[in-house]
Amino acid sequence: MINPTPHIGAMAPYALADLGPEGAVSMAQNESAFAPSPLALAAGQAALAQAALYPDPDWIDLRAAIARVHQLDAGRILCGAGSMELIGALISAFSGPGDEVLGSQFGYAYVATACQLSQSRYVTAPELDLVVSPTEILARVTPATRIVFVCNPGNPTGTTIANADLVALRRDLPDDVLLVIDQAYGEFADPLDDPACLFALVDLGNTIITRSFSKAYALAGVRVGWAYAPDRIGSEIRKVLNPNNVSIISQQMARGAIEDQAHLSDIVARTGALRDAFSTQCRALGLHVPPSQTNFALMQFGSAEDARRADQALRRHGLMMRGMGCYGLSDCLRATICDQTVMDRAVAVLKGVLT
Ligand SMILES: *Cc1c(COP(=O)(O)O)cnc(C)c1O
Repeated sequence: MINPTPHIGAMAPYALADLGPEGAVSMAQNESAFAPSPLALAAGQAALAQAALYPDPDWIDLRAAIARVHQLDAGRILCGAGSMELIGALISAFSGPGDEVLGSQFGYAYVATACQLSQSRYVTAPELDLVVSPTEILARVTPATRIVFVCNPGNPTGTTIANADLVALRRDLPDDVLLVIDQAYGEFADPLDDPACLFALVDLGNTIITRSFSKAYALAGVRVGWAYAPDRIGSEIRKVLNPNNVSIISQQMARGAIEDQAHLSDIVARTGALRDAFSTQCRALGLHVPPSQTNFALMQFGSAEDARRADQALRRHGLMMRGMGCYGLSDCLRATICDQTVMDRAVAVLKGVLT
């Protein structure tokens, strides 16, 4: 008998979304409703000619483009095969057996998996009305806490706390606790709340910001994410990363995408308009839909049974939303914002079930 190491053997496989039969529409994975920038596609095509070579292990072109757009220090940017790779790597680098990672009640599910891989204990602080509570987080910091993880805007809630609240959280946390702010939906966040103050936290030496090309940049399939990390933290994370982690094609596609900020703004505006219209229609049907600053909407039904019935009806119509039982929110469904036709179909089905 060949056995895995006990902590791997004890793990369940990662719970991916149920995408349904062929031809069904996925509203389950928060993929973009819109195509990536033509500049990204052209850059990917051009990169094919270099497929015989290993990718740049220092992600030079991509880091320079990210640094230009966000006015950051390129040397502090790390790139990953999706931000998931960076999240997994930073947890393995900074937390191990006997250590605690502290998240929020409805935080990103992959953090729990990464904690199992690193044999850390994952604990969560309650949210108040589906919104992250810095007070509840601070109350659960113990001497074992190594990392505090906040997803803002949040997934699966879609809700956001002000950047000033994250700055205050950092101030109130012990200096030897690493604060990770997952901004996979950062491009969708209210532009009036300037994220520069979050990136500036990295100067303090104990905060990391992560971002993704999968959501607003519409590149989920090419797997690119990035982190802004203090030098000493970044060099430890790099030990854990595959040194050739982001393919030559993915690096160039992400560079092309971020250099097209006009296309990004267009995706963000169109997605936001569809999301807000859908949310309003759902509220008119009696659902609770928290205000979302992402490319999805969380719908809270009157009961778990109502949510289950709605999910079944949506599935019969080929619309695959994400059930939220794994977050303890079995009275909710999470709907990725898709194009107008799909959103209209979803509203029609919900109307049929709820009225
Ligand atoms: C989608 C998502 C990610 C990771 O995305 P990648 O595709 O790995 O870049 C990270 N955090 C949250 C909250 C997400 O929703």
